Amino acid sequence: MSDPTPNPETARRGLVLINTGPGKGKTTAALGTAFRAAGNGMRVLILQFLKGSWHYGELDSAAALNAALDEAGSALNKTDRPAPAHNFVIRQLGRGFVKIGGAETDPEDIRLVEAAWAQAAAAILSGEWDLVVLDEINYAIGYKMLAAEAVADVLRQRPQMVHVILTGRNAHPLLVELADTVTEMREVKHAYQRGILAQRGIEF
Ligand code: ATP
Ligand code: MG
Repeated sequence: MSDPTPNPETARRGLVLINTGPGKGKTTAALGTAFRAAGNGMRVLILQFLKGSWHYGELDSAAALNAALDEAGSALNKTDRPAPAHNFVIRQLGRGFVKIGGAETDPEDIRLVEAAWAQAAAAILSGEWDLVVLDEINYAIGYKMLAAEAVADVLRQRPQMVHVILTGRNAHPLLVELADTVTEMREVKHAYQRGILAQRGIEF
């Protein structure tokens, strides 16, 4: 990193982050950032594209954390707002399996992605959330179920302080270009390669 001297004019601003690459940790790193943001009194919305069939532990953690943050009231508030709503919300907006490949793509999956994107765009533009995570959205874009240009337009138009994290392999070059921080997870090894199945608490 060269010259990290802070510039007061740009010291506080919303960032676009992308967690991509073939290694494990894209979604869980986004959840970690969400956990960190929540502790600063920030309002966090996590929208999961394509997911829906599995019940992930983070769904129950989010509900418990959301209730606990409400209880904590304004004690955690490190934002500019006088009385923040302590929201920590996860919504699964898919159905967990996607048939892909041109004409084989199920129209129902495309409809779900379009509805998910409409909700995501509205949430980002509303300014009602400080951090919006678009989990697995890179897959929806990669499968040509959603146009990268449409996502880029909304990211460019978003209120200045809104942070957005996009996850999933093969991030689109247009979005990589637009993003502030891009991390590529590299697979060194994965238990799956030795035939070890997904483990509770680690994979779901
Ligand atoms: P996680 O949710 O664990 O952070 P991820 O978001 O990086 O994983 P995805 O591409 O969303 O990865 O895939 C989710 C599932 O696939 C998880 O169960 C994860 O363990 C598994 N997975 C991720 N990377 C690999 C890999 N390189 N080989 C096999 N399975 C993987
Ligand atoms: Mg993931």
